[in-house]
Amino acid sequence: MSDIFSAEVAVVGGGPAGLVAAIALATAGVDTLLIAPPAEPDHRTTALLAGSVTALETLGVWPVCVPHAALLRKIRLIDDTQRLIRAPEVLFTAAEIDLDAFGYNIENRHLIAALEARTVELKLARIAGAAVSITPDAAGVSIKHIDGETRVRLVIGADGRRSLCRAAAGIETTQRLYPQTALTLNLAHARPHDDTSTEFHTASGPFTLVPLPGRRSSLVCVLDPARAAELVAMSDAALSAEIERRAHSLLGKMAVEPGRGMFPLAIETADAFARDRIALVGEAAHVVPPIGAQGLNLGLRDGATIAELVAEARRQNTDIGAPGVLARYDTQRRADVTSRSIAVDLLNRSLLTDFLPAQGARGLSLYLVDRIGPLRRALMREGVAPAASRPRLMRGEMV
Ligand SMILES: Cc1cc2nc3c(=O)[nH]c(=O)nc-3n(C[C@H](O)[C@H](O)[C@H](O)COP(=O)(O)OP(=O)(O)OC[C@H]3O[C@@H](n4cnc5c(N)ncnc54)[C@H](O)[C@@H]3O)c2cc1C
Repeated sequence: MSDIFSAEVAVVGGGPAGLVAAIALATAGVDTLLIAPPAEPDHRTTALLAGSVTALETLGVWPVCVPHAALLRKIRLIDDTQRLIRAPEVLFTAAEIDLDAFGYNIENRHLIAALEARTVELKLARIAGAAVSITPDAAGVSIKHIDGETRVRLVIGADGRRSLCRAAAGIETTQRLYPQTALTLNLAHARPHDDTSTEFHTASGPFTLVPLPGRRSSLVCVLDPARAAELVAMSDAALSAEIERRAHSLLGKMAVEPGRGMFPLAIETADAFARDRIALVGEAAHVVPPIGAQGLNLGLRDGATIAELVAEARRQNTDIGAPGVLARYDTQRRADVTSRSIAVDLLNRSLLTDFLPAQGARGLSLYLVDRIGPLRRALMREGVAPAASRPRLMRGEMV
C-alpha cells in the first residue's frame, strides 16, 4: 500500500530558527506544515550579522523588522578583568571591511512577530500546538499532535534545547556546563550608543551592551549564578545604578525596562545534525553561550542549508528525506558549528581562568588583532560571512 503524506515537510517548533526554515521551504514551493505552539514572551534581543539580514531580506521578512532594528557599525572589546595581564582595547569598524554595518540588533519579540506575519502571508499551514510523539520509519515520519496525526517525508526539528525531535532520532549531545548565568534585560540610557556594541570582558564573563533604536540598548551580563540571582532580585533603581557602575557610566544614566531573563550558560552540540528523516536546526542542534552573537546566526544558516538541500532533492525528483540528503546536511553544517563553538568556548574559558599563560595568550591574541590590519579584516569578514558556510539565502539568492 502506498503511503499517504499530509505534507512533504513538517517543521516542529516556532522559535526564530524554525520559522525561518519553514519560510525558506515554503518560498521554495515545498509543501510545508508548521507544528508550533504560540511563541512564549522573549525579552532577549538578537544581533543578526550581515548574512542573516540578507537572508531575511531575501525571504521578504526584513522590511517589517527595519523600524525595530538598530545598526551595529562598531564593536568594542574592553578588558575589565583587573588582572596582571590585560588585553588592549580593540575597536572593530564595519567600514574597514567596506560594510555599512556588521548587522542589526533587534528584540526577539519583533523578529518573531515579523516571521509569523510572513508565514501568514505565505498561507503556511500551522498546527498551533506541540508535537507529542514523533516516530520515524523507512518511508516517512508520523507525528502526533493536538489535531491528530500527520505523516511527512522529512521533519525539521526546531524544538529548542530539550528537543523531542532529537530524542526521536536517537541523537545524543555532548554538553559542557559553565559556572555562569546570563542576566538579560533592555535599558534606556542618557548618552547615545553611537551604533557601537561594547563588550566588557570581566573575570566572571562578558558584560555586553548592544544598541537598540534610540537611546536604548540590550544587556547580556554574564555572572556567577549567586550574584546573578542577587542582581535579578534588585529594585529597578538599584539595578539601574549597578549596571551603570559596571558600564563605567559609558552611556550615562541608565534606567532598566521591565522584563529580566536568566539563562544558565552551557555549550551543547548534537552528535549528529540529522538522522532517520529528522534534521535538527537551531538550539535543537547546538547551544552556544551568548558571546559574540553566534547562536541564532548559526540557527538561520541551518534553516537556509536544509531548505536548499530539500529544494535541490525535489528538483532532482529524489526522496527529500533520504540518508544522502541528511548526510550532506550534517557535513555542510559541522565545520561552521564546531568552529564557532570552539571559539566561544575558548574565549569564555580564557576569561574565567586564573592560569596566567591563558590570560597572556588572550591578551596577545587581542594585541595582534588590534595591530595587524589584514588579520583584523580577515576576522571581521569571517565573523559576518563565514567561509565554512554560505548558503544561497545568505548570498541573497532564493533556495
Ligand atoms: C542571553 C542570550 C542572548 C543571545 N543573543 C544572541 C545574539 O545576539 N545573536 C544570536 O545569533 N544568538 C543569540 N542568542 C541565541 C539565540 O537566542 C538562540 O540561538 C535562539 O533563540 C534559538 O532559537 P530556536 O528557534 O532554535 O529555539 P527556541 O527559541 O528555543 O524555540 C524553540 C521552539 O520550539 C517549541 N517547541 C518545543 N517543543 C516543541 C514540541 N514538542 N512541538 C512543537 N514545538 C515545540 C518551543 O515552544 C519554542 O517556541 C542568545 C541566547 C541567549 C541565552
